[in-house]
Amino acid sequence: MPSLTRAEAVERAALLTVRSYHIRLDLTSDDEVFHSTTTIDFDSAVTAATTFLDVKPRSLRSAVLNGTPLDVADLDDGRLPLSGLAARNQLVVTAEMEYSHEGQGLHRYVDQVDGEVYLYAQAFLDAAPRIYACFDQPDLKARYSFDVTVPDHWQVLGTGTASKVGPGHWQLAETEPLSTYLTALIAGPYRGFHTVHDGIPLGLHCRASIADALAADTEEVFEITGRCLDEYHRIFGTRYPFGSYDQVFVPEFNSLAMENPGCVSIRDHYVFQSTPTAGEKEDRAVIIAHEMAHMWFGNLVTMGWWDDLWLNEAFADYMGHRLTTQLTKYSGALTTFSAARKGLAYSADQRPSTHPVDGDAADAMAGLALFDRISYFKGSAVLRQLATRIGEEGLEAGLRAYISRHAYGTTDSADFLAALQEASGTDLTRWAALWLRESNVNTLRAELTVADGLITSAVVHQTAPDSHPVLRPHTLRIGLYGEADSSVLVEVDGARTEVPGLVGLPAPELLLLNDGDLAYAKIQLDERSQAALPGLLPTLSPLNRAMLWGTLLLAVQDDAFPAADYLGLANDMLAVETELPIITEVLQQARTEVADRFLQPAGRPDALARLGLACRGLLDRTQPGDERRLIAFRTLVDCGTDAAELRAWAEGTGIPAGIALDSEIGWRIRYRLSAIGALTGAGIDAAQQADPSAEGEQWAAKCRAARPDPEAKRAAWDLITTAEELSNYQVWALAEGFWQPDQVELTAPFVGRFFTEMPGVGALRGDQVLDMLVRLLYPRYAAAPETLALAEAMLADEGLPLPLRRRTVDFTDDLRHVVTVRHTNR
Ligand SMILES: [Zn+2]
Repeated sequence: MPSLTRAEAVERAALLTVRSYHIRLDLTSDDEVFHSTTTIDFDSAVTAATTFLDVKPRSLRSAVLNGTPLDVADLDDGRLPLSGLAARNQLVVTAEMEYSHEGQGLHRYVDQVDGEVYLYAQAFLDAAPRIYACFDQPDLKARYSFDVTVPDHWQVLGTGTASKVGPGHWQLAETEPLSTYLTALIAGPYRGFHTVHDGIPLGLHCRASIADALAADTEEVFEITGRCLDEYHRIFGTRYPFGSYDQVFVPEFNSLAMENPGCVSIRDHYVFQSTPTAGEKEDRAVIIAHEMAHMWFGNLVTMGWWDDLWLNEAFADYMGHRLTTQLTKYSGALTTFSAARKGLAYSADQRPSTHPVDGDAADAMAGLALFDRISYFKGSAVLRQLATRIGEEGLEAGLRAYISRHAYGTTDSADFLAALQEASGTDLTRWAALWLRESNVNTLRAELTVADGLITSAVVHQTAPDSHPVLRPHTLRIGLYGEADSSVLVEVDGARTEVPGLVGLPAPELLLLNDGDLAYAKIQLDERSQAALPGLLPTLSPLNRAMLWGTLLLAVQDDAFPAADYLGLANDMLAVETELPIITEVLQQARTEVADRFLQPAGRPDALARLGLACRGLLDRTQPGDERRLIAFRTLVDCGTDAAELRAWAEGTGIPAGIALDSEIGWRIRYRLSAIGALTGAGIDAAQQADPSAEGEQWAAKCRAARPDPEAKRAAWDLITTAEELSNYQVWALAEGFWQPDQVELTAPFVGRFFTEMPGVGALRGDQVLDMLVRLLYPRYAAAPETLALAEAMLADEGLPLPLRRRTVDFTDDLRHVVTVRHTNR
């Protein structure tokens, strides 16, 4: 299907004004297709003009423009030509649409536990025409009303207030003007929980089979929801505009959540059926706050084209972390951002596929590629940098002006910056050019001269990579740690910045650039500070500890800090660290990034054994109820090699006190047993029979793919690459289990097959599923020059699907770093 280009969108927006869509859906016919009838009222600025409609049906039944039937055979690749437009037009389109199994369009899911069917619409990014005929671009906002026929025991929700008007017959009231990508529809025997906050009806919904788990959590989720609503009312100065606010936990969802106005979809992993870690609960809180920010920023005021997606996502991410930290018991959310997400942004920003925060999307599919760590996490960090520069009050005043000025309209970056500039009285022209329209990251390094224990001069040096020779202004704090701690806020700009404010102060043991993690920059510690770090690290603030752990990981990847030393510090960290976000992130990186990839493979078993010992130490020292215990035990399972001990745990024997053998822990143990060859296919089958849930099915697939058996690998590979009937989640579960760091020889034959077969798999799976599939199935442990050569050979093919090309370029670059680091550290 051709992807709508920006030029086509501009032309169509100049021609058309879409007044309304009335959409009639019959969801009772069969398991594969549904009937869709759309009546569109729209104006054309030019009479007798031509344009096209977007519709992607299994079969187009009819299309009638102003009473005249069109030839449905003219439908070509999702576009139906329209000609002879009047000033005012009515178009009625009837079609049979296919249910989706890959999370885009109208996704159909059958719950294996009770056989019930659950549907949800995902219109983002260009999938609305798989549900109803439309002019699918964000700047053609229109009013929507729905008329939906479903089995009588189903619930229906969506954009617009839902009411049941007859047996199995529902209507959604007409909405205010919205973009097509934001239309929502939820249908099925969903279970709902309701309350009212400040006059706004709130709802939580999920499948019946997991509703007990949601029931146990409704108080917490409603409380976070209410607090965030209050705060957004204060920040934006405009009341929540979409009536009721429903959050629906849906199965097999591709992203974490989707901000449909008044009807947010969240992946139903966030209905916890096993004991979650504190980090998982914190993630859910951040998602709630993030999606709600979009009600104003994205839904009420929408970007005109996908280029300005960063406006939506950077802002929602910034607010999501800020509100969670300030308003909920998850006050470590910003620490998590510094420890985990910001590092992902730095890595992404240094990869070949990096792009400016304010991206360039020549067509809609290129817009999908902008949904990445740059738009979200770098964008969020850059907004924090901006807030440091103009002050939180300046930022909020600008937001209020922006939202009230553009409500129900569309905007671009310039509109946003204009509002901020006016409100803050700060000229942001140069700042925006350097921060939003240039990519990559700067490195900062401090240089002190000291005499008689006092600083006599202080300079901050800024560098940029040769590929992106851009220096930026940074507003940051410099911390001095040692006998007496202090800090100063400075503006660093250009290659060399003198810091007179430090002169005359006692020389510190540790000089910390980016104290408090206000900046977006890589920092290099001077030698004296590096030597002081192990001793002083535990005494620093959580944000600084998180920032420094991120810095150390980047240094491992840059071959500037030995992998073995990182692992040594990680083991020591477990003895003293109290912050859950830091423990979670460092344990994760120590195992999956440092030990599994950057460390010499010969040293890996010993490194994992030491990490396991450190986790056992933490379990010995702590009492039941301490949330660190669950993180430590999960790590112990993930790097376990003693089959007898793992089997005993699987039967509930010897598990540390206070940790329940719930389905998550049970499957985690079975997954590890599978990977080390201590669980048979029959054993996995039996476990799946005992747990018919969706999670059970996915874990079982992952276990089967992980077994160190050539036949198991072949079977998993065939399913991933050829089995059309598998859902998105089934494909990903198999891919996730496939590569194991200790099965490099066994899986060697599949390294070449990845590069020769993935181009064909792209056509089978669709771009969003492919994107995640490449992330999981790229042969990340095959750190050898031959793998790099195979990748280059595949990339020579000009016709590769965009997600496959982009991910392969990036992961090959990552793998090149691993090859280099391992080579120099031999
Ligand atoms: Zn978002």
